[in-house]
Amino acid sequence: MNRNLFNNPQILAVFTNKFGGISHPPYNSLNIATHVGDKNEDVLKNRKILAKKLNFKIENLATMEQVHQNNIEVIVPQTDRKILRCDGIITNAKNIPLMVMVADCIPILLYDPVTMAIGAVHAGRNGTFLKIIQKAILKMQSEFKSNPKDILISLGTAINRCCYEIDESLANITIKNFGKKYIEIREKKYYLNLQLLNLDQLLEMKIQKENIQIDQKCSCCDTNYFSYRREKNTGRFAGIIMIRN
Ligand SMILES: [Zn+2]
Repeated sequence: MNRNLFNNPQILAVFTNKFGGISHPPYNSLNIATHVGDKNEDVLKNRKILAKKLNFKIENLATMEQVHQNNIEVIVPQTDRKILRCDGIITNAKNIPLMVMVADCIPILLYDPVTMAIGAVHAGRNGTFLKIIQKAILKMQSEFKSNPKDILISLGTAINRCCYEIDESLANITIKNFGKKYIEIREKKYYLNLQLLNLDQLLEMKIQKENIQIDQKCSCCDTNYFSYRREKNTGRFAGIIMIRN
């Protein structure tokens, strides 16, 4: 079986970066989110650029109003895509691109090649603490009869432990609830390893380690990506996944 999510003719799976979009203020790049200060018409232009480049229908695009919780919605062709107030979407319908938008949070793409089901998840700190990725997998099991051992998963570029400083009380909460290994202490400062926390949640769900890809780039260090921590006012880049016809 082809374990690479990105090299599979049956699906489209990509992570974008800042580049390839139209060039103008405020972000001079491929921002795909409407809620962060760009003009809506410009964001739409950027989404159209992506749709053309990736060969999907823009009117089919499922985007979320992400609220840092752990709600997962099932998308069917009839779903009204304007009211998706959630942080994870899954489907087994063809030609519906699922999009997650981030600037430091982890964009996660899921693909079950056996039942032909996909998902896109927004895993920031809160979502991760609420175990959103486990909830997404449980929902793929109940909705599509997915077996976790079949699911391929990719964690895209996000803030890494080099930059993800948190305060002491949050560090203590993390240690108390999840364990010491997720916090690094350097010069009396606390850094969270969000990727490791998600990885362990995946392994706990019996996802196979060889089916998990984790991007090692840090969105805060690497200026090819938008970073809320680095820039505060910033755009969003995307993870997109779709079952091809
Ligand atoms: Zn970094």
